[in-house]
Formats: sequence, structure tokens, C-alpha cells
Amino acid sequence: MVGDGAGAMSLVAPVVSAPGQRSPDEIAALHRHRVDKAIAWFREAAEGRTPRLCPICGYRGVFSPVRFKVETWCPSCDSRPRHRLLKLWMEREMRLAPGAEVIHFAAEPWVRGWLEARGARYRTADINDRFELRLDITAMDLPDASADMVIANHVLEHVDDAAALAEIARVLRPGGQAVLTVPMIEGWEATYEAPDLDEPQRRLRYGDPDHRRFYGRDIRERIRRAGLALAEFAAVEPDVSAHALQRGERIFIGTRL
Ligand SMILES: [Zn+2]
Repeated sequence: MVGDGAGAMSLVAPVVSAPGQRSPDEIAALHRHRVDKAIAWFREAAEGRTPRLCPICGYRGVFSPVRFKVETWCPSCDSRPRHRLLKLWMEREMRLAPGAEVIHFAAEPWVRGWLEARGARYRTADINDRFELRLDITAMDLPDASADMVIANHVLEHVDDAAALAEIARVLRPGGQAVLTVPMIEGWEATYEAPDLDEPQRRLRYGDPDHRRFYGRDIRERIRRAGLALAEFAAVEPDVSAHALQRGERIFIGTRL
């Protein structure tokens, strides 16, 4: 029975049907029918229906699926929606003086060439040693006020974000910018985080077992609390359709006061 704590499988194949419920055989048949229809739909949609333009590499054509998301991956340069949104922000709104020091956590390869062509002094960083600087974003071995931009695309959800944001603010020069993206739900007032979840539960509730939380609208307050003035750049039409962006995805730009 549903609601007796027997777990999700009981929804698919209940042992006993209550009055008013479909019979176990009917439920199993209907479930199979919906699964087959969904797979057929996905097979077609996964091929890609609409040509898109990648603002990073210039590829024009259909984009590839990633897991269950169709038309997401640029098959020419491997960019995903958040990377393309970042490129649009860089092209349209970023202001970076020649010689500006940029530190990029979890860096994507295309960013270097693009920023260096505009005179930036660019270094990649991460907790492991695959990047130029081995840095813990929550305790950076860098002097105060030593960077003009810190880019951290989908990093904060993996770490102690209060410590990371305080560190980013500390290493930025006044007027320097933190460029941040996180997985978030705009419809949630508050971030969801439950410290004791096991791996299957983190996968279920955060979408990834390596994440510590799923952000709500209070991401803004968390950024401001670190002493950063907030601006935002959102994925809106016609960019969403033209470049296969995720509707409403946002880049948060925190400027050191
Ligand atoms: Zn591309």
C-alpha cells in the first residue's frame, strides 16, 4: 500500500490494491506503456530537432543529449548551457582591464584563450593538482586583495560556501568580481541542505552525490553577506533558443565593495 513506508517500488507493483485503485496487472501494464512511450519520445528528441549556435566555438547544428536532457551538449567543443551563458556574459557585460588577474576554479579550457586575448593574466585553480594553482577555495593560499576576478562555475555546492565566499571576497581587490554559478531553484526561498544524507539520498535530493546542498533564492543573501554587491545575468529568450541555454539560469556577479 502507498504511504505505509514500504518504499517507492510499491507504487509500481503493489501487492494489494485498495478499493478504487487499479489492479496490480493494470498498473504494471500502464507503467510499461508509459515507459515505452517515454523512451520512444526520448529516442527521437535526443537526436536534436533545432539547429543552435554555440557562442563558444561557432558550431551551428543540432546539440547532443546529456543524460535525460536533450539538445544540451555542443558536439564540437563539449560546452554545456552554463558555459555558453558565461560566454555571452563575457562578450556583452564583462569589463576587465588589461593585466587583470583572473583565477578560475574548475576551469573550462576555452576561457583561457578568450581572456588572454583581452590582456588578462589568467590562472586556473582547484583542490587537486591538475591546474596551475592548487588552492582550497575555502582557505586560499593567496594574499588579500590580489585578484581582479575569481570565476567559480558550479563549485560552491561542493564546499563550505560561507568559507568559500569569505575567501573569494578576501582575495579580490576592491572593485574585483566574483563570477558564480550554482544549481538553484528560483521557486525555493531557502537553500535545502541536510548534512546527514547518505550517498543515494544526496543523489536523489541534490541530483549529485558530491553536492552538499541545492540552492534557493537565498543564494543572493549568502553572496551579499560576504561583502559582495550583487548583479545577475540570466538566460532569457531569444538567447535560450538560439544557444540552447537553460531557461532562467543565472550568473551571479559579486563585486568587492
Ligand atoms: Zn561549441
